[in-house]
Amino acid sequence: MRRLPNTLAFRLTLSYTTAFLVSSLVTLCVLYFSVNSILNTRMDEDLQEDITEYKMLYNTEGMSRVLQELEREVGSDDEGQVFLRLLDAEGEELFASDLSEWNGLKTNTRLFQTVLASKVVHALETLELEEHEFPVRTNYGLLAPGLILHVGESFEEKEEIMDLLLTVFVGMFCVAIPLASGVGWMIARKDVRGIEAVSRAAVDIERGQLDRRVMIKNQGDEVQTLVDTFNAMAERIRSLIIEMREMTDNIAHDLRSPLSRIRAISERALSVTTDNAHVQAAASDTLEECDRLLHLINTTLDVAEAEAGVMQIDKEPVNISKLVEDARDLFEPAAEEKDIEITCTLESDCQIQGNRQMLQRMLANLLDNALKYTPSHGRVSIDLVGQLQGLRVSIADTGIGIRPEDQRRVFDRFFRCDQSRSRNGCGLGLSFARAVVRAHGGDITLESEPARGSTFMIRLPRLSLRP
Ligand code: ADP
Repeated sequence: MRRLPNTLAFRLTLSYTTAFLVSSLVTLCVLYFSVNSILNTRMDEDLQEDITEYKMLYNTEGMSRVLQELEREVGSDDEGQVFLRLLDAEGEELFASDLSEWNGLKTNTRLFQTVLASKVVHALETLELEEHEFPVRTNYGLLAPGLILHVGESFEEKEEIMDLLLTVFVGMFCVAIPLASGVGWMIARKDVRGIEAVSRAAVDIERGQLDRRVMIKNQGDEVQTLVDTFNAMAERIRSLIIEMREMTDNIAHDLRSPLSRIRAISERALSVTTDNAHVQAAASDTLEECDRLLHLINTTLDVAEAEAGVMQIDKEPVNISKLVEDARDLFEPAAEEKDIEITCTLESDCQIQGNRQMLQRMLANLLDNALKYTPSHGRVSIDLVGQLQGLRVSIADTGIGIRPEDQRRVFDRFFRCDQSRSRNGCGLGLSFARAVVRAHGGDITLESEPARGSTFMIRLPRLSLRP
């Protein structure tokens, strides 16, 4: 069996058409049955009016005038549609229209007697007569004591009107359903256009077109949000992939140098066969290069640990003022050696909830960079300010600075500015620092101007006294 298409447009069209079908069906049914009921009431009113009119005629102008009027009415009415009978107290016909088409018409004794006894003014009933296709509505009415008028009318005309109405309704349905489906299909296609555009873009991105975006507008709030979110996600994926490519390039570059050196050392050691001193020097150089590689790998793992550590790292109350002071003391000798002045303005006893070791290494990385990238006679200043919202630690130097285009990337793993490639380092210090700060719920920013210096600004939340 062929399955129905499972597209959103098809399902929406089906829903619109079903909703239209059900609501029109209910409306037309209500309309049909209301018309039917109105026509039935009208017929009963006509029959009752006939009795009232003849009664008035009898009272004002007497029996002969009633008979005259009956004759006239019989002549003007279709005798297959309407009948008239004038009965005496015994039920004998004093007058009757042509009843040849009303086979099986009998007097209903119960109704006749009720009317005769003046218990009711009118006695209506519906009859099914043999050889008469349509039911008949009849009415007994008392014109005068012992004088009863029996009138009846076939439902034929009413049924014809109802049949006509049904034909019109069915015709309307036959036209309206395909029309509603067509309009529904067009609306549904318009509604899903945005979603289709997103799927097509997703396929293109999956095939490698990382620059592909969805460029449609005015598609309604939900679709527009989907489009905007999709574009933002695609942009993020693109920048992540580019970052990853750059990182892989940087790793390859950083691993190549120590490995090439180890290879050169080993080659040289092999060519100088017996000299023990040479072999020893080669082994020590190899050890040094291996340490460098191990440091690189360990720092990479530390960054990954700190980045994952938002939930995991062990925290304790830490006196950050003391930590900064210790770091300054640690780097003082190196600064003196390079003739760099370190100034320090600290607010005492600032506490945060954190991991002491990680914070120490983060501060050490930043101070190490400040001294490494600041020429002799320069200045490094450390400031710690406690604010209501949190703590602010800034480490500023008067060093070589960082070009604007590199400032966003210095926090990426393995990124090193071109002018620092000749110096020691592996491009992991700042990514480690940022991971640590973020793991403590804070953030780190950079302001820098080439040849004038750089300022790294760390913001950390204060120690919360709540458990
Ligand atoms: P590295 O081990 O190379 O210092 P980092 O991640 O610590 O790695 O720093 C990344 C790059 O940012 C460095 O290679 C350097 O180019 C630049 N950088 C970091 N700190 C400074 C600074 N204080 N002054 C100038 N450049 C800096």
